Amino acid sequence: MKRILAIVLAVAMIASVAVLAGCGNKASNTTETTIATEPASAKGKLTMATNAYFPPYEYYEGEKIVGIDADVAKAIADKLGMELEIVDIEFDSIIAGVQTGKYDMGMAGMTVTEERLKSVDFSTSYAKGIQSVIVTENSPIKSIDDILAKDANYKVGVQLSTTGDIYITDDLGDAAAERVTEFQTGNDAVAALSSGKVDAVIIDNEPAKSYVAATAGLKILDTEYVSEDYAICFAKSNTELKDKVNAALEELIKDGTVKSIVDKYITAK
Ligand code: GLN
Repeated sequence: MKRILAIVLAVAMIASVAVLAGCGNKASNTTETTIATEPASAKGKLTMATNAYFPPYEYYEGEKIVGIDADVAKAIADKLGMELEIVDIEFDSIIAGVQTGKYDMGMAGMTVTEERLKSVDFSTSYAKGIQSVIVTENSPIKSIDDILAKDANYKVGVQLSTTGDIYITDDLGDAAAERVTEFQTGNDAVAALSSGKVDAVIIDNEPAKSYVAATAGLKILDTEYVSEDYAICFAKSNTELKDKVNAALEELIKDGTVKSIVDKYITAK
């Protein structure tokens, strides 16, 4: 089963009518790591909430958070004459943190979904994602349809509250409680696959490649599950910042900066 959301979501983003802000997001206490990319200055500060375990979009290189999102955010901040501060929190807490104004924006390889659009606004999309399926090398699972088959009983690992989690839980319906295990990070889900606790992991394609490259005995299925748009999220009340960021981002897309950042981290196939 495959859903193409890109067009619907692009339209939804443009339309972006005033919808009541959702209130279903739970705030949780998380350990935060704050990394200022420049010494404190008189410039305005731009705080970006992310979850830095999503290579190549955001990950640690030593103490520093690097990746496509970190570089694009830095280029946006530079254009706006602002000082970027990246805060590492759980993925599940990003939307709530942005909604309450604790962070100016959320950038975490985050997919635009209709559900999230009820809670936050999104920028122009700057990258595409695909939900892929990781299995063990000798797995009998050949496609997502094998997992979704009526009489199948395969167990699936996902990262909590990601679109992989949302789609498979939705598609499996009543069977999801029994068959889907939510992990705090993609890394934990992949470790569960390696140790045989789950039969497949559903996760975005670029982190999937990183995990498979780093773990023996795993492969990514050729078939795609869902195709998506990544964008930056803002509180619905913060249209001023969203418009400024969008203007900068659109220039960076147009002049090729975003593409060169993506190419720097994703080796052309
Ligand atoms: N693209 C997925 C989502 O938005 C996963 C993002 C992530 O894990 N950082 O849900």
